[in-house]
Amino acid sequence: LMQLFRPLDMLGWVYRTIRQGLIDMAAMFRLIDTPVEVSDAPGAPALLVRQPTVVFDNVVFGYEQDRDILHGLSFEVPAGAQVAIVGPSGAGKSTIGRLLFRFYDPQSGRILIDGQDIASVTQESLRAAIGIVPQDSVLFNDTIGYNIGYGREDASAEAIARAAADAAILPFIRSLPEGFDTEVGERGLKLSGGEKQRVAIARTLLKDPPILLLDEATSALDTRTEQEITGTLRRVSRNRTSIAIAHRLSTIADADTIFVLDKGRLAESGSHQQLLRHDGLYAEMWSRQANERVEEVS
Ligand code: ADP
Ligand code: MG
Repeated sequence: LMQLFRPLDMLGWVYRTIRQGLIDMAAMFRLIDTPVEVSDAPGAPALLVRQPTVVFDNVVFGYEQDRDILHGLSFEVPAGAQVAIVGPSGAGKSTIGRLLFRFYDPQSGRILIDGQDIASVTQESLRAAIGIVPQDSVLFNDTIGYNIGYGREDASAEAIARAAADAAILPFIRSLPEGFDTEVGERGLKLSGGEKQRVAIARTLLKDPPILLLDEATSALDTRTEQEITGTLRRVSRNRTSIAIAHRLSTIADADTIFVLDKGRLAESGSHQQLLRHDGLYAEMWSRQANERVEEVS
């Protein structure tokens, strides 16, 4: 009998692993048919994260031959630091996230987490270590509770409620007549952009990853909701290594280090004040956005 069950067990594990991979991929690309071009090295060990440092070491990458997107990119994120990556659209910011999650391998150079080359460890362990909150989170046509617990069927009702509380959406859920059993999406309650992002944040908190990747997590929201969600993200980023990719600079001005990416190269890095004093690309982007902010209110 055991021999019958073991393959079934294995199948369950494979199913869960693939499903988690698909959720994360769908989140990253909002596509399900993206080719997976990477595979585990034979006998690859699991990633062991004690100090969640992230290092890009001279990374060269292009999606197509003869068109490099990242040209020898190097930067370091210390364990527990809150960093931001900013830069013009098309600079390669989201590509950095896709490489960190190992949807692709660099043509050359290395990406290290806690000193381990991510190409040498299992993809499952790598992806378990990183939580992603994308620009527009996808919810499933199911209950709020299901959407928060998705990918973690072992999660208890208490753990789901705690994640919801940490994502500052518990009072809202409790205010609904059916609470966590409320259907969302096309067949149920329509959630606002901010509420959807909070559900996605709760889902990520349940995963409890040491590394958080926020790819324009608030850029689809109105200014006020963006400020509220930014506050929540700032709180949940504490005690983790967090990398926030941002278009609107006002949301990341207090990051420990800001990396300015331009055409696949690190153009500048430093704190907000240092970068303003440097008077380069960041300072220019900042003053342009400051003007836009003035126009918005007047
Ligand atoms: P950012 O997030 O900074 O706006 P991306 O990292 O998404 O930029 O994209 C960087 C460059 O890579 C862009 O020129 C984009 O067109 C290109 N690119 C992104 N994804 C793909 C892909 N799947 N295939 C080919 N080119 C891509
Ligand atoms: Mg992007």
